[in-house]
Amino acid sequence: MYHISDLRKYLRCPRLFQLSFNEKSTSFNPYVRLDQQVTELAIEKLKIDDYFLGVVNDEPDKALDAMNNYDWIVKGRFEYKNLRIKVPFLHKNEDGWNLYFLFIGNFPHEDDVLFYTSTVWVLINNDINIKDINIIHLNNEYVREDELDVNKLFVISNHFYNAKNNKASNVKELIFRKMRDYSSILSKMNNLEENELVEPKRVKACTRFGKCKYYDDCFNEEKIEDNSILTLVSSQYKHHMYKDGIRYLKDVDLDRLEGSRKQYAQIRADENGGLFYDKFGLSLWLSKIKFPISFLDFEWETFSIPPYKGMKTYDVLPFQYSLHILDENNNITHKEFIGFNDTRLDLINNLINDIPLEGSIMAYNGNAAEKLRIKELAKSFPEYKKQLMNIHSRIIDLQFPFDLGLIYDTRMKGQYSLKRIMSVVDEVGYDGLEIDEGMKAVYNWRFVDRAVNNEEKEEIIKNLKLYCAMDTYSMIVIYRWLKKLVVK
Ligand code: SF4
Repeated sequence: MYHISDLRKYLRCPRLFQLSFNEKSTSFNPYVRLDQQVTELAIEKLKIDDYFLGVVNDEPDKALDAMNNYDWIVKGRFEYKNLRIKVPFLHKNEDGWNLYFLFIGNFPHEDDVLFYTSTVWVLINNDINIKDINIIHLNNEYVREDELDVNKLFVISNHFYNAKNNKASNVKELIFRKMRDYSSILSKMNNLEENELVEPKRVKACTRFGKCKYYDDCFNEEKIEDNSILTLVSSQYKHHMYKDGIRYLKDVDLDRLEGSRKQYAQIRADENGGLFYDKFGLSLWLSKIKFPISFLDFEWETFSIPPYKGMKTYDVLPFQYSLHILDENNNITHKEFIGFNDTRLDLINNLINDIPLEGSIMAYNGNAAEKLRIKELAKSFPEYKKQLMNIHSRIIDLQFPFDLGLIYDTRMKGQYSLKRIMSVVDEVGYDGLEIDEGMKAVYNWRFVDRAVNNEEKEEIIKNLKLYCAMDTYSMIVIYRWLKKLVVK
């Protein structure tokens, strides 16, 4: 039996389908937090009181039988040609059924219709007459008050949205226009299951929706050398060059080079034996940094449904920060904050109290992260706007010299994360930390936040603090490294 996710994987890459189908499913930790049962909220929105509720492992006939006795079918399971689907809502009308999809996002886009078309394909092949199709999705304009207002939280829409989030095609029209007969694909999937594993082939699908989880296994990427041509960033032709026998950055084919500053720094680093830095550019950038320097890092959670007053759908909630302060005499002090539930006011007050009134504030990727978070907090709590925007105005992004190609070390292997750069400058770095990357921090915080009285709480808080503090400590190490290079 297959699910739509299997079909999606097969269409992306048959080998991906084979590998994931044979893998034991592990529990999935979503990037975005969803505490409320969205189906229950949507039931409230649709004002349904009497309904059949499908559950996991239902026989496919169960929902079909229930259609004789109920006007509403919720989460009904149906099957056709071995493809099993779960249908959010079906509502009986005079001469057929209205179908409601449930999309837990703000804008269901028309370029991702496989889920919708394959669902309708199974339904009509079960002789269900679909009269109308709507999508229930989240309302991006809704701002929560004290209580969640389900009527305002959702929008019921009969159209998809385009890339600019403007109204686009009619849902029913597009689904019927794009729907195909999936029988032959399903039978190919069936045959493939019994066959040998398909050989890996580097195609756009390997990286198009983010790097495929099997990429390193398929192409031995972890084993590539530091100065391999395959580490060249934003390069359309690196794989072609590799295929043509070009192995190293310094041997790059200039006719097939986009020529960005980052690429230039990479090539120069290889030519120099591993390290390149633009002494003048780096000195100029460093000269703008004023003592005391505050190294700041936030951790935050993203909620699909706003949990607290003043929040919108997909708003983020900063729950922790670490702050290392470096003064002119090389003294370091450390301050930190971690909170649970609605942390916003406590975090603001602590931050305003902890951060020096003067000097630069350094954050890695701070333009896209810490600056944004502070702006959001200032918007939600205008009474703190002045102090928060003062902090905002002093933030300098430590990623800037790396992004601008002012420095590159081939040991970075084309990766620009704080952790990767730290591993170049300090061998120990994040090694041995229980929590050693951002999403792990979020999952651990989520675990404690949901059950504040659990026994592991203190241990998790200790590990969260160690991780966040390592981020700001790493920034000091990297800052000192850059300083040392320019005085050489
Ligand atoms: S890395 Fe590419 S070839 Fe390998 S499974 Fe993924 S999509 Fe398929």
